[in-house]
Formats: sequence, C-alpha cells, structure tokens
Amino acid sequence: MYASASISQSALAHNLSIVNSFAPKANVVSMVKANAYGHQLELIQPLIDGSDLLAVSELSEVLKLRTKTDKPILLLSGIYSEDELQCAIDLNCSIVVHHATQIAFINHTQQAVNIWLKIDTGMHRLGLSSQEYADCLSNLQANPLINIECVMSHFACADEVNHPMNTTQLNHFNELTSSTTKRSMANSAAILTQTQAIFDFVRPGIMLYGASPFEKNKAGLKPVMQLSAPVMSVKIIHAGESVGYGATWVADQKTSIAIIGIGYGDGYPRHAKNGTPVLINNSLCALVGRVSMDMICVDIGDTQVSVGDNAILWGDKKLRVETVAKYSDTISYELLTNVSNRVKFISAT
Ligand SMILES: *Cc1c(COP(=O)(O)O)cnc(C)c1O
Repeated sequence: MYASASISQSALAHNLSIVNSFAPKANVVSMVKANAYGHQLELIQPLIDGSDLLAVSELSEVLKLRTKTDKPILLLSGIYSEDELQCAIDLNCSIVVHHATQIAFINHTQQAVNIWLKIDTGMHRLGLSSQEYADCLSNLQANPLINIECVMSHFACADEVNHPMNTTQLNHFNELTSSTTKRSMANSAAILTQTQAIFDFVRPGIMLYGASPFEKNKAGLKPVMQLSAPVMSVKIIHAGESVGYGATWVADQKTSIAIIGIGYGDGYPRHAKNGTPVLINNSLCALVGRVSMDMICVDIGDTQVSVGDNAILWGDKKLRVETVAKYSDTISYELLTNVSNRVKFISAT
C-alpha cells in the first residue's frame, strides 16, 4: 500500500498541442525546471520529443536532462563562474544572461556560445535594465564567438488578465526590442490570454502539466499527474467525537470516516482545510481534521468504501489540482513540485 502519482503521456502530448494551437507560429520552449514541475524528467518524453527547446533553472538540471536528450537546452539562471560557463558550453546549452557579472564571464569566452539576453521590464526579479541591455547588446554583438539567440522578459502579473502591468511590461519590451532579434515573453498565462505577447518563442510551464493559471479558463487542458493513495481504514464515529491531531474537527452526527495513506510526508499540503475534496469511488468526499505526515481522514458520507479502495487526491476531471491548491491557500505549481520521493511515480497512457 503506497501513494502513487501516475503521469499521463497522452495528456502531456495533448497539452503541448494546446500550446501549439494558441501559438501556431512560435517555437516552444517547454519549462521542465524543478524536475518537470515535479513530474520527473524520466516521465515526460512527449515534451522532450515535441518541444523545440527545453528550459531548466540550474546546471545540475541541465546535466540530468542531457543524459536523456540532444535537444537544445536553455539554462535560465545563467552562469556564475568560469567553471560554470565551461560546463554549460560542454553541455551544449544556451545560457540566459541577466546580470553584468555574467556578461563579463561570457565576454571572455574562447569558444562559441549561445545566449539569451533577459531584460527586466518591470517584474524586478532577474534581468538587465534598459541601459544595461543597450550597452551589452553592442558589446556582445561585437564578439564573433557570441550568438544572441533571443531576447526575453518575464511578466509579473500575467495570471491577472486586466492587470495594468501586463501592458506596461509589453510596451517596454516592444520599445527595447525589434523584430531584428528573436524575442520571447509569454508564459502559460500570457499564451492563453495575450496574443500580442506571443513572439518567436513561447515559454509554457504549468499548462503543459494540465493546470491552468485561471480559475474559469481551463482551455481544454488535461491533468497530467494523478495522485492517488489507498484507503487504510474505514470507521464510524459518533456525534461529539473528534478526528486527528489537535482534535480540531468534531463530528456533529454519526459519520463514516475513511483513513487514506497519504500525508504531508508525501507532499499532500498540511494546510488543506476541512472540506477539501477527495475523490473516492467516483464521489467527492470531504477532508476532515488535520493532515498528518502519513495519513488524512475523509468524511465519506454515504459512499461505499472498503479498505484497499483507491482515493484520488488530484488529477481527475472531477478534482483538479487547482481546486486542492485553492483549499490550501496555495497554487498548483507548489503542490505539483512538492510531491515527495516516497510517492511511487508511474508512467500512464
Ligand atoms: C517557469 C518559467 C516560465 C513558465 O511559467 P508558467 O507560469 O509555468 O507557464 C516562463 N518563463 C520563465 C522565465 C520561467 O522561469
């Protein structure tokens, strides 16, 4: 008896086709950082095969990904030493350049190197200022070993369609760049809602894994990870009796409870509230009491449930990870990347 996460290969291919339908002319850079948003690099072959590029955050991730594919890889953090530059070149990956420190390393290269320049258009996380960008562009263009593949920027508020920063950032990006360079701006939220932000490369992440940044607009995306766990025990409790640590939930009537073998040690969110849906035998049941390390307790109502039945925590048409995230005051990204290595990962059709 163990919790498992099955990774749907057809859903990955389907979601990639949704990206293509929203951005038919753009090249697709699939974001596979954080072990493919928690889905495991070993289990995302349709993305590896179907994307033009793959992007990860760290060199350690490039190293891992290189054992599986010869596809172009983009290193989002860029490099922080001569050794890292050498390593990135040896691994044949393209390097994001977002800070002057990095420009200095890159400019001393003795070998050909492909770079993506990242501009800060208002998010104020990573990226060159307008002035730094202008300086560095002329500087690096003069170096024949350096190939500027693309100029990129990242939205701060793309998941809020009407947020004024979207327009401000896009205008800023358009002012600084021109169609003479290849450009990239759109993450999943922008791919789904901002056609003007779709340039030469799009950078989908969460939508590939079947979660939407929007509550209403699911865009036909199919959940990729289905997280499930076995029913370990079923029991009746009576009015006035409590369930779980802290005795925080007390039954107001005779209640059937199922104990499910998954907890925060597996990555199920400890802050999931009472009432968070859990799908058992095709019925939505309600989480009750605190989430433990290895177990949760669920009010199963009238649903027929036996020990050994399977409960689905998320990744079904009836129960999306976005819903569980909402009940846990977080986002689907965090839940997906937090599934722990105690969970058994399985490739599914
Ligand atoms: C992770 C990431 C993305 C993808 O964002 P989603 O919201 O998951 O689509 C795009 N661009 C950059 C720079 C990122 O780091």
